Amino acid sequence: MSNKYRDKKTGITRREILKVLGVSALSYGFLGASSKVYSKSTAHIVIVGGGIGGATAAKYLRLLNADVKITIVEPKSQYIFCPGSNEVIPGWITLEDLMVTYTTLKTHYRINVIQDKAQSINFDKKQLKLEGGDTLTYHKLIVSPGPTHHYEGIEGFNKELAEGAFPSAYSAGKQTMNLRNQILSMKKGGTIIISSPEDPYRCPPAPYERASYIATMLKDNNPTAKLLILDSKDDFIFSNNYLVYWEKHFGYGKADSMIEWVSKKKGGNVVKLDASIRAVITSNGDIHKGDVINIIPPEKAASFALQNNLAEGDWCPVDFFDFSSLLHDDVYVVGDSIEGDPMPKTGYIASNQARVVVQAINDELHGREVGSPFIINDCVAMAGQDYGMALAETFRYAGKGKKLGERYHILGAEKNKGKQIVRQQVAENWQRTFRKDVFE
Ligand SMILES: Cc1cc2nc3c(=O)[nH]c(=O)nc-3n(C[C@H](O)[C@H](O)[C@H](O)COP(=O)(O)OP(=O)(O)OC[C@H]3O[C@@H](n4cnc5c(N)ncnc54)[C@H](O)[C@@H]3O)c2cc1C
Repeated sequence: MSNKYRDKKTGITRREILKVLGVSALSYGFLGASSKVYSKSTAHIVIVGGGIGGATAAKYLRLLNADVKITIVEPKSQYIFCPGSNEVIPGWITLEDLMVTYTTLKTHYRINVIQDKAQSINFDKKQLKLEGGDTLTYHKLIVSPGPTHHYEGIEGFNKELAEGAFPSAYSAGKQTMNLRNQILSMKKGGTIIISSPEDPYRCPPAPYERASYIATMLKDNNPTAKLLILDSKDDFIFSNNYLVYWEKHFGYGKADSMIEWVSKKKGGNVVKLDASIRAVITSNGDIHKGDVINIIPPEKAASFALQNNLAEGDWCPVDFFDFSSLLHDDVYVVGDSIEGDPMPKTGYIASNQARVVVQAINDELHGREVGSPFIINDCVAMAGQDYGMALAETFRYAGKGKKLGERYHILGAEKNKGKQIVRQQVAENWQRTFRKDVFE
């Protein structure tokens, strides 16, 4: 267990050093703490990213430790929650409903929030350089910068197109509104295409939740329109619920169904966008024209993580014991940027990973042995304002460099109308409670 704190350069753990010195487990805490170059009152914990992972880390570290200095570096003055953002598309809520500021973190939790972008890390000096020119010295650095939406992973697609004629809307904001407006102004009987990416990507059920909401919109405003979901996977989470819902409400499976879902095996894998004719092209050469095209692109770790040598390939490797980077000492990475399989990339998971990190950091500051983490995922999704679904999942540490052990249970399709509504309310309330938990 205690190959935690293994120095990445020497490969020696603190426990091994103490063993060589003949130090007992009882005195380990005292020596462990005093051997550090900082104490619990002078430590400076710097956090890159004030999203779900970063904000949770800051708030919960403060709850654990009144003395430590905590700084978040985040370029935006407001954060817009992605959980719930699909509801903005049919107009059930507004983007403003999902916006939070950093005021409570600053004033109530005494978090120093610097509105700037983290640029580079000097791992030897333990310094973080910001784009604005400042340099912060850290004792521990927690990195939670979200993902990179890899638009170029689809030939012919790019960020400019996503911000204009072909909104991805996979980070809540202007693109979400653009997608909504395009659907509202689409011609009668038009076609909407959603391209769902291969795993891993943030919030696995979100493309299908979105599809359900859009179909509900169409049923009301444009009932002859079609929704085509082209998938780069052969199955998707909660398909046992969504397919039943689509069958009941949109005629899924029949010739005149409003929704069609095409798996990868059946030719759904989108590889190219031809913007000039508003069409996507799949790996088997099929051309699908769409009046509204919503490509959810593949993802990678955030560019900050990629540029700072925190990633191997597309994702950041971490020790799931405490989410410390496998590549650099005193740096922890959580959230959508990590190689976390089998953990999904969700806000709830990012938030729980952040809690594991700050517990470990706080234990270290107090010279305490860090306990083995348990991580849970309480994933909810909706198909409409009348149907919700849920997944309960646990993860258990299995050793450094090993995948976490996973157990999960997905609720099956629910036929009882009353129970469907209860499930929907649970999902909706979960989102609202979760938002408060992270930022208030
Ligand atoms: C449509 C949709 C619906 C979703 N629904 C759910 C749901 O119901 N439940 C759920 O649990 N999850 C849901 N998610 C997923 C969830 O939003 C993400 O998994 C979660 O936000 C990941 O947290 P994070 O901290 O890794 O990244 P984020 O929350 O994206 O935060 C990253 C932050 O880092 C900042 N940043 C980036 N680069 C830098 C830099 N160089 N310097 C400083 N700051 C930087 C960004 O500005 C951002 O504020 C949904 C996602 C989508 C798209």
